Order: sequence, then C-alpha cells, then structure tokens
Amino acid sequence: MMNKDTALVVFSGGQDSTTCLFWAKREFKKVYALSFLYGQKHQKEVELAKEIARKADVAFEVKDVSFIGQLGHNSLTDASMTMDKEKPADSFPNTFVPGRNLFFLSIAAVYAREHGINHLVTGVSQTDFSGYPDCRDAFIKSLNVTLNLAMDEQFVLHTPLMWRDKAETWALADELGILELIRNETLTCYNGIPGDGCGCCPACQLRREGLEKFLAMK
Ligand code: ZN
Repeated sequence: MMNKDTALVVFSGGQDSTTCLFWAKREFKKVYALSFLYGQKHQKEVELAKEIARKADVAFEVKDVSFIGQLGHNSLTDASMTMDKEKPADSFPNTFVPGRNLFFLSIAAVYAREHGINHLVTGVSQTDFSGYPDCRDAFIKSLNVTLNLAMDEQFVLHTPLMWRDKAETWALADELGILELIRNETLTCYNGIPGDGCGCCPACQLRREGLEKFLAMK
C-alpha cells in the first residue's frame, strides 16, 4: 500500500537537491532523503547533506554505490583527470558520470517501494543541464514509465526544477524561506568548497551567475 503523503528526495546536499528537499517538505507530509556515495572525490558533501537533512528534520540515509563511478571514466571520481571547464563542442564534459541519474533513481525507487513511498523527487533541470542527457525531461518521463513497468507500481517522479534556470531556482529557495541556508550550507562546487565555493569551476560559475541574476531581479 503506497502512502500518498510521503516522498523520497534524491539528495546530494547541493543547491538543487536541497531546494527540492524543502519543496518536498512543503508538498508532502513526510519526506525521506537518500544520498549516494558514488566515488565522488569530495565525500564531505555527504556529511553536509546529513547535516542539512537533520536541520530539515527529514529521515536520511546513505547508500554506497561507488562502483558506478568506476564503470565509466569521469573527472568527478577520477583524481588523475583534469576537469573540463566547459562543454566540448562535440561531446560531454568529462564531469558527466554516465548513468548516474539512471542508477540513482532506480535504486531510489526500490528503496521507496520498500518503504511504501510512491513519490520520488529529483533536482534535475533541462534548462541548465550542462550537457548531461539524463537531466532531460524525456529521460525522466521515460524512466518513470520504466520503473512502473519494472515493479508494477505507480511511482510519480517529480522534477520541480526541470524548467527553471539557476536564477529561478534561487527564487524558489527564497520563496521557501531557505535562501541563506542554500547560500551558506550547500555544496555545489566541483572542488569541494561549500557555500560560494571556489568560484571558478563550472558548477560555481553556473551557481554564481544564477544568484547574481536572481538578486538583480529581486
Ligand atoms: Zn567551484
């Protein structure tokens, strides 16, 4: 029996998934947060995620799926690789972890099923998808159908950020009353520095440009 009042958020402790966590708290009676260790160089993001989940008063769990980072080469899990500063014209940036959202959401769905949860929330965005194909709406809709067929369940995948750019994601954080928490306590930076981050990696640039745009239109 699925509980219609409960949602599971795929949660990394970054800007996007933290915004989704508080969005889920507004939309559902009970919220769970699930984080993954996927061999990322900066595992302290999981400690920060745990702390944010504690403040948000949501159940928190971590699953170790480190093998997915080793299946394909990428600069988020391989310390010997230099991170692409921008997307190459003819391929993905090497920060792309192939299959990451496919694995995360599939595992989250099995976990959710075990806990009687049918609402799954993820912070992917097609608007600011950095060239990652598994952040696009068509993938999420396709996976939603696949998960339902795979387990004969009625999962609903929620993507509150799908059509928001970073400035609009900041605006949602403001609307949810968590602007300062997002600014100071989340970790988006590829170099593992919380808050405003290193300032120069692609994730920091996207985050900062969005913040500046949001503050200018506020
Ligand atoms: Zn950075």
